[in-house]
Amino acid sequence: MEFCPKCGGLMMPKRSGDKVLLVCCRCGFSREIGGKESVKESSYVFRKKIKHTLKEKMVVIDETVRLPRIASIAKNVECPRCGNREAYAWMMQTRAADEPPTRFYRCTKCGYTWREYE
Ligand SMILES: [Zn+2]
Ligand SMILES: [Zn+2]
Repeated sequence: MEFCPKCGGLMMPKRSGDKVLLVCCRCGFSREIGGKESVKESSYVFRKKIKHTLKEKMVVIDETVRLPRIASIAKNVECPRCGNREAYAWMMQTRAADEPPTRFYRCTKCGYTWREYE
């Protein structure tokens, strides 16, 4: 964990092309991580962070999450909670950028929200 030399904010690893930057989440200050080893290490941290965020998202995803405007209605899925066969569907990039986006569903009846793959 690193802190911004300018404002003391938390520095988060961020990918920029094939480089990895540490970007301050408060003031936007960024610096490139040098050396092959540390790049490797920080992309590992980056992936771990994404996973963590996804987990948090899964907890947060419920009826209070706003449905994205891109959502369409899928009629071939069954709600795991109430058995309704109609759900809003949308794609979201939740994992690392080089992995395919995850499909989310939300039941049109009870509002239960789930992912296509567990
Ligand atoms: Zn800063
Ligand atoms: Zn339902």
